[in-house]
Amino acid sequence: MATNSEPSQAQGQGVQVHGLFKNYESAGVAVSILRDLELTVQPGEAVCITGPSGSGKSTLLYLISSLDRPDAGEVHLLGTDILSLNEKEQAQFRNRHIGFVFQDHDLLPQLSVVENVLLPAIAGEGVTNETEQLAEKLLSRVGLHDRLKSLPAQLSGGERQRVAVCRALINKPELVLADEPTGNLDPATAKVIGDLLLELSREQNTMLLCVTHSIELAARFPRHLVLEDGKLVPASQASLSAIKL
Ligand code: ADP
Repeated sequence: MATNSEPSQAQGQGVQVHGLFKNYESAGVAVSILRDLELTVQPGEAVCITGPSGSGKSTLLYLISSLDRPDAGEVHLLGTDILSLNEKEQAQFRNRHIGFVFQDHDLLPQLSVVENVLLPAIAGEGVTNETEQLAEKLLSRVGLHDRLKSLPAQLSGGERQRVAVCRALINKPELVLADEPTGNLDPATAKVIGDLLLELSREQNTMLLCVTHSIELAARFPRHLVLEDGKLVPASQASLSAIKL
């Protein structure tokens, strides 16, 4: 039975980060990276985060995905307090609910395109006819229907990143985390990948949280936040130097 203390439906399905602090030690001195950071992402929302290099954007994605622990604060994903899970449960949660896209696609060189896309399914609940069909559908959607059996080395950088986007979506995650997804691409290819990420996450009703130094990419997101002095602020309120890096 629902009680007042339970999260609302919308809260339960989104991302809530509350009072997040993260320090790193540098030459014996604690350096404060994130300071009392707050973030709420609604189900299906696409949010882009920019900020100067070293401001803590990647660190924030690591903390949200439980690949690292904060010094203080709370992270609730889809109603689950992920910091209360043990490492195995966190890994299962990531595999089931989060898709990742990194700057360097991270494909396994010995596996074909379609095998790479299926990897998260293999690591999770196993490959079914349905997941195989979804892999082919996603790869068709990004224009790679005739490259299913190719190896990553036979693809261009942009094509490899399209494969990485399909891989991120194969388990139908509620959340996709993208860390500089267009960082190593030329401007035209970067635009294609940015558009695909946005379109596919919209089609699949997936939350998308993307960090980038690309103002062009950020401008295409419905919501743009800037990481400034350890906190997130709407781009409209951020200082120009933080936006322009
Ligand atoms: P961004 O993604 O905004 O460029 P990062 O999150 O990668 O920034 O890094 C933020 C700061 O934290 C940087 O100064 C970086 O050197 C430092 N940092 C990141 N990870 C570690 C770590 N594991 N140990 C020590 N310092 C780190």
